[in-house]
Amino acid sequence: MSFSSLKLDPRLLSGWTAAGYEKPTPIQAASIPAILAGKDIMAGAQTGTGKTAAFALPILHQLLALREATPLAFDEVQPLRALVLVPTRELAQQVYKSFVKYGDDTGLSCAIAYGGISINPQIDALAEGVDVLVATPGRLLDLMHKQAVSLLKLQFLVFDEADRMLDMGFIIDIKRILKHVPSSRQTMLFSATFNEEIFTLSKNILKDPELIEVDARNTTASKIEQMVYVVDEDKKRELTSFMIGSKNWQQVLIFVRTKQGADELAKEMCKDGIKTQSIHGDKSQGARERALEEFKQGKVRALVATDVAARGLDIQQLQYVINYELPYIAEDYIHRIGRTGRAGLAGLAISLMSLGEEYLLEEIEVVLDDRVPQSWYPGYEPDLTKPVSKNKKNTRSAQKGRQKARAYGEKTGNRSAGSGASGNKSRGRKR
Ligand code: AMP
Repeated sequence: MSFSSLKLDPRLLSGWTAAGYEKPTPIQAASIPAILAGKDIMAGAQTGTGKTAAFALPILHQLLALREATPLAFDEVQPLRALVLVPTRELAQQVYKSFVKYGDDTGLSCAIAYGGISINPQIDALAEGVDVLVATPGRLLDLMHKQAVSLLKLQFLVFDEADRMLDMGFIIDIKRILKHVPSSRQTMLFSATFNEEIFTLSKNILKDPELIEVDARNTTASKIEQMVYVVDEDKKRELTSFMIGSKNWQQVLIFVRTKQGADELAKEMCKDGIKTQSIHGDKSQGARERALEEFKQGKVRALVATDVAARGLDIQQLQYVINYELPYIAEDYIHRIGRTGRAGLAGLAISLMSLGEEYLLEEIEVVLDDRVPQSWYPGYEPDLTKPVSKNKKNTRSAQKGRQKARAYGEKTGNRSAGSGASGNKSRGRKR
């Protein structure tokens, strides 16, 4: 399928050409015609598949048509027509940049709103009137509260990374926002994984949606090679630095479970001679952006991240992801390794699994409905003489970890947090 066969407004071609894309990705080929036909959609697509253009292009197309059909009166301020809700500020920035890029030749305007920074510039930007707003739910509610934005004329509503929004406890915010959105809108929901909560949400917000699945649900992009190395816990850092150094990997994204763990690992890896930084929720927005920028520019070779911080990061041509620790929530594995193998590029996702962490891999494999190959790394074979309980599910540290994940889930409203893949296993299986 070519770009021209999508029958998008020619003014959208320049952004596409400038981006250097040759043809639409599968999610774009499937979503764009459905959105142009005015349908609500529910799309299973992770970051890296080109999903942003899949909704941005048809929305911009329809906004252009709308502007021509109903031009603004001389003194009329542009009412907000399209709202994209995203879970994190990083994703907000990426989606915003995409709208600006694709809409470069259209004269349509886009604003961005997320928390952690001053609200006043966002209020000022909205006061001028914009066509599109990309926002995190909490900050949007603040802006609505201050009457800086009205959703009354909204026609397009997108939930991007809906699963993560629910994981992060945004359901109440979302419900509040929905009360102010006209029911006659067109709604698009994108999610990397699907579980009961997503289906419940979709029933409430989507009308007769077209279900779009380019890859089987809850599966990883096909070009990602996955490997699990079984290694002793106290050898993980050494092996990580050794792999990166000996194989001369550049731009490696490493996942850990805790903020403290991220800082400690980054510090130790720097001592090993691998320039490494950490990125997590306790770091200021400025520090996170700087770390990400330096990583993108190749000034920093490895970036250690927690799941929430890494969510939505779009790093071009990221080839290597290392799961230093397997996630407690199996679906996070898919999000993590989805950072690589983006837009069809080959990627490698390595997981370091200590003896006793096997139950986490089992849960991941249930969600993937596939096995991940396991091996020992030469020179880092695990010490099998060490006593390890066969099933660590009930050891103190595992319980603590699960409790933490559960507490996080309670705080955020994610009922499945800390229960691994359970609760949505049947939904999660490849069909
Ligand atoms: P997304 O899934 O929207 O985060 O996009 C992932 C990456 O794919 C981004 O870097 C986009 O610029 C890129 N991309 C989007 N559409 C295409 C396309 N049709 N061809 C090649 N790359 C694309």
